Amino acid sequence: MIEIDHVSKWYGEFQVLDDCTTRVAKGEVVVVCGPSGSGKSTLIKTVNALEPFQKGEIRVNGIPVGAPGTNLPRLRAIAGMVFQHFELFPHLTVMENLCLAQVQALRRKPEEAHTRGRALLERVGLAAHQDKHPGALSGGQQQRVAIARALAMDPVVMLFDEPTSALDPEMVNEVLDVMTDLAQEGMTMMVVTHEMGFARRVADRVLFMDGGRIVEDCLKESFFGDLSARTERTRQFLSKIL
Ligand code: ATP
Ligand code: MG
Repeated sequence: MIEIDHVSKWYGEFQVLDDCTTRVAKGEVVVVCGPSGSGKSTLIKTVNALEPFQKGEIRVNGIPVGAPGTNLPRLRAIAGMVFQHFELFPHLTVMENLCLAQVQALRRKPEEAHTRGRALLERVGLAAHQDKHPGALSGGQQQRVAIARALAMDPVVMLFDEPTSALDPEMVNEVLDVMTDLAQEGMTMMVVTHEMGFARRVADRVLFMDGGRIVEDCLKESFFGDLSARTERTRQFLSKIL
């Protein structure tokens, strides 16, 4: 579903991604963790072409990312992304946020977009808030709207970049619960997070990045189960956050 092959990226002299290769299979949930500055956000943003890269290849559902002529709106619809800071349109209502790209990028009729938006708001428990502006919602509610907005585009994969790290602690679980449901329904997901409880419960695989490299790429069971087989860097990292 996501194929990342030997991807490298530089900012000037500074190499931010160093020969990254991994796969995310259909229905798989892959958690990406690692220290600040290790390249996690950069890697996940290359997948939907928010960040260009200089070497290697990425395919999402067979679509080559970064190739000339790639249909970016289509790529970003099938690879939905949720950011740390919800990035909803503040001047639009919740429902308008959900409908805008459906109408503009997918050319859905407004009624159809509204029906889809309504179903998704019910699914994330926010149907009662459809006419509010984002500023009137809590951070956790805004993030659930952001997830619903990405789902409205019928993505085949969902990319999450630290979706809970800007939230007050009491709101983290309501967002993780929505993500857990999505995973259980079979959504293919790549999730940058330091929520190791979520990783233990929901992930199939865990990647650990350091210095732009994917230094661990293993099944969840071995990532958490057999620390002696992990790199020293991974053990240090886990000892700080577990
Ligand atoms: P965090 O956990 O803090 O979110 P991260 O693992 O997501 O970190 P990235 O945001 O991918 O890390 O950044 C990787 C490295 O690239 C960092 O050293 C960062 O300073 C650098 N970097 C990111 N964006 C740019 C840019 N536009 N120009 C130059 N360097 C950049
Ligand atoms: Mg980041």
